[in-house]
Amino acid sequence: MEALAGALRRRERNGVVWYDFPALTAAGAVIASVASRHGGVSEGSFASLNLSYAVGDEAGRVRENRHRLAEAVGFAEDGIVCAAQVHGHRVVYVDRQSAGAGYVGHETAIRDADGLITDQPGLTLWLGFADCVPVLAYDPRRRAVGIAHAGWRGTLAGIARELVVSLQTRLGCRVADLLVGVGPSIGPCCYAVGPDVIGAFQATWRDVDGLFAPGPGDTLHLDLWEANRRLLIGAGVPAENVLIARQCTACHVNEFFSHRAQHGRAGRIAAVIGMPEGG
Ligand SMILES: [Zn+2]
Repeated sequence: MEALAGALRRRERNGVVWYDFPALTAAGAVIASVASRHGGVSEGSFASLNLSYAVGDEAGRVRENRHRLAEAVGFAEDGIVCAAQVHGHRVVYVDRQSAGAGYVGHETAIRDADGLITDQPGLTLWLGFADCVPVLAYDPRRRAVGIAHAGWRGTLAGIARELVVSLQTRLGCRVADLLVGVGPSIGPCCYAVGPDVIGAFQATWRDVDGLFAPGPGDTLHLDLWEANRRLLIGAGVPAENVLIARQCTACHVNEFFSHRAQHGRAGRIAAVIGMPEGG
């Protein structure tokens, strides 16, 4: 396996492995992490750190895995806020009243949201992934954080742009202050897409040059990292503030869950961002 380096730093505690974005965490007291699949108690396709209740794993194991991640990374479990993701582009502001949403069971997660933002310390925004793109944003001046889940549908609909706009309009962030990490997700190396996806991007985006690369045979591969980079820069985030991990989950299926590489039988990693209380 090639080394995971660059925009990410690999961390390990008590067998739990996760990745931080040093460019975000160095800017202030913030947690900005993406879990690996290592260090949990789940088995089979969910081995071992499956963090989702919604994929058919035993709830008790998921609860234990979530506890292990929170303890290893170092954030309070009672401040976690999870969303019931729907591959849409809605970004929701959350405050202390939402603390604990979706944490011990999927049914209490924030409905119909693929993005969360907050300016409240003590909250940890949490989304689940298996190939889709985690986008983590931090404003060290305004002290605000946001996270988005961008698969091809969310990317097509511009959820990364919605995340930036929500931070501006709801919380008064300046785009020039935003630091944004794009986490491990399926890369252009592995993401073959059909004519439906290609046609949808051609119809919605004015310019698709460089978003699709030829794969084996007649296939075309979609570059979700580049698409999300364009959305962020188009929304005004300085190019040097966009940190792309460039780590493909399908290439590194021993390190992350991958919906594609595991043929739909995958657990979920999580990406989390938050400002610890008193940090
Ligand atoms: Zn790949």
